[in-house]
Amino acid sequence: MKSIAIDFGGSSIKMVLFQDGKISKRRTIPAYSHKGLAPRFADTEAAVRGMLEGEELREYAGVGIAMPGIVDPVRKKVLGIYDKYEDSKSLDLEQWCREAFGLPMVMEMDSKLALMGELNSGCGQGYKDAVMLILGTGVGTAVAFDGKILNSRNYVAGALSSHIIINMDGDQCTCPNSGCLEATASGWALERLVRSQPEYIASGLAGEDEINFRILEKWYLKQDKTAVSVLKKCVKAWRTGILNLIHAYDPELVVLSGAIMNFRGLYQMLTEGLDRFIWDCCGHVEIKRAEHPEDSVLYGLYHLVKNFMTVYN
Ligand SMILES: [Zn+2]
Repeated sequence: MKSIAIDFGGSSIKMVLFQDGKISKRRTIPAYSHKGLAPRFADTEAAVRGMLEGEELREYAGVGIAMPGIVDPVRKKVLGIYDKYEDSKSLDLEQWCREAFGLPMVMEMDSKLALMGELNSGCGQGYKDAVMLILGTGVGTAVAFDGKILNSRNYVAGALSSHIIINMDGDQCTCPNSGCLEATASGWALERLVRSQPEYIASGLAGEDEINFRILEKWYLKQDKTAVSVLKKCVKAWRTGILNLIHAYDPELVVLSGAIMNFRGLYQMLTEGLDRFIWDCCGHVEIKRAEHPEDSVLYGLYHLVKNFMTVYN
């Protein structure tokens, strides 16, 4: 089966062609997501058409679209999205796909697709009950039961676990609450956390133009006091997040992904001794790093299109 996958991410738009579950071609363009989705349609169509040169469009089964927000995959609508592609809630993406490519379209939220991708083509093969935590600019989460992505009345269940409040006296989130997991430890929350440390001025981090987890890692490896203390707080928050997901959803597998997982030694810091805090009745819970951290959303789209074709044809 051949299909097209488009991942409208916050910073880049990734497009790939799939043939029988393997990526055959790929293109990436900048997202400029703060300016909206509609202004990116023309460049996205041109990039996909560029990849399709020399190919027969009618051999393609459909287009899969990933969005960084809550998606209704039945009505094919974006229901909730913050800070990115804010016009997408009022756009008809199905109509755009029909006009641009003449193909049927399916869509889903990016974090749910990432878990679907890992369960079908990555580290989660052979597992059915799983949760995913994606540590990046924000924190993404998704849940699967019996091999299927958990979807609820408003498609929120499992997808907003980054906004589970872990500190009632915590810092303001981008959402209406304070002390959410994402507001405590994430790419966007890092600078605030670093600057709030009592010894920040004396830290090497004070001389940096930009503060992100790569810079934090540099100073952490030099045993900078502020960097060590900040990482310790982040690790505590994420371990709490993992425990909350385990006790809420009873998974056999936890998949950890996202750019922050490249921080040296982080996997070990997040998992070491964690089983002592998991209720006995949860049994053994495997915790793995994603096999395709850059592409799991795209693999999820391949399987979404494939499942759609099986159901409707
Ligand atoms: Zn929040």
